[in-house]
Amino acid sequence: MDTIETFISSIRDFRREWPDGRHDLDRVIQRYPFRVSRYYAGLIQFPGDPVWRQVVPDATELEDATGWEDPLAEEHLSPVPNLVHRYSNRVLWLVSQECALHCRFCTRKRRWREPLPMTEEHFHGALDYIASHREVRDVILSGGDPLLLPLPRLESVLINLRKIPHVEIIRIGARVPCALPEKVTPELVSILARYHPIYMNIHFNHPWEITRESSQACTRLADAGIPLGSQTVLLRGINDRADVLAALFQKLLTLRVRPYYLMQMDLTRGAAHFRTPLSSALNILKLLRNRISGLAMPHFVIDLPGGRGKVPLVPDSLKGIVDGKLMLKDYLGNECAYPLLPGEEEELVRWLVKK
Ligand SMILES: *Cc1c(COP(=O)(O)O)cnc(C)c1O
Ligand code: SF4
Repeated sequence: MDTIETFISSIRDFRREWPDGRHDLDRVIQRYPFRVSRYYAGLIQFPGDPVWRQVVPDATELEDATGWEDPLAEEHLSPVPNLVHRYSNRVLWLVSQECALHCRFCTRKRRWREPLPMTEEHFHGALDYIASHREVRDVILSGGDPLLLPLPRLESVLINLRKIPHVEIIRIGARVPCALPEKVTPELVSILARYHPIYMNIHFNHPWEITRESSQACTRLADAGIPLGSQTVLLRGINDRADVLAALFQKLLTLRVRPYYLMQMDLTRGAAHFRTPLSSALNILKLLRNRISGLAMPHFVIDLPGGRGKVPLVPDSLKGIVDGKLMLKDYLGNECAYPLLPGEEEELVRWLVKK
């Protein structure tokens, strides 16, 4: 990775061509530091493009007074430092402080300036917590980016988790295969492959992020038997169009990455300008449903503020029940009738009628 200063100066070059004179980025950077890998910066084609907007600071970040510092109440839900235990059978373990990029919409941007301390004591505290909670079957490693840990450290996380018999699944949430693919070395991949079952969810937001390099990184991971999923944040002016997301999701499938979640922007302070109305996601989903492969369709979820968990939202295709038939709209918007079993109606009404 290049120094931040080099990149800031390259931004200054861009700034001259940048349309509306939003020059004073230094104040923004002081609050929310700038960071980008040389590789990812190389994907920028012009100022204000979908790659640029994900990483280049914007004065608007300081104007947002409505958002929350910790919208998912992660700190409140941490029984021990760096571990978030929201659902009983799975935990989110923040193992790394470092990212390849500072995505300007990041839910954890509050941490950039003063990263979470991650000491040996915290490390063992998290492991002890997991070991003493037998209901935890699924450990999600996050950060920061776990793939930026020094390899011996990464391996030590995995070895120690595999000593805990009730931990069945290890998941890794990573942006590195998309943002700094050169880090996905054969050596890294061979370490991961020793601790199966390992799943990985990769953060991809735009078709331009799918390149020869990121494809190769995904191929390596998939060849090592790691089932790959993607997480995409719906971002205003970046990917909030059906054609853009269709292209992204379909391309991801060709890399053996299965779209997993499309996420509504969290209510993060300093990121409100990325938020889209919920209707825009529902519209997009309706347009995509059955027009792209079902394998390429992620769940659209809102991660509820205050740490209440993720809830999926689906476009409503329900019209009602008429003469023992459920009236639905198909993907083209045409109405159709689905016959119900005798006596089914009453129970179904209880499910479908909103209260
Ligand atoms: C998203 C998340 C999970 C995983 O949720 P899944 O729906 O199983 O992918 C677990 N813990 C926390 C705190 C999360 O935010
Ligand atoms: S890589 Fe993930 S954790 Fe890091 S800044 Fe981007 S969204 Fe946040």
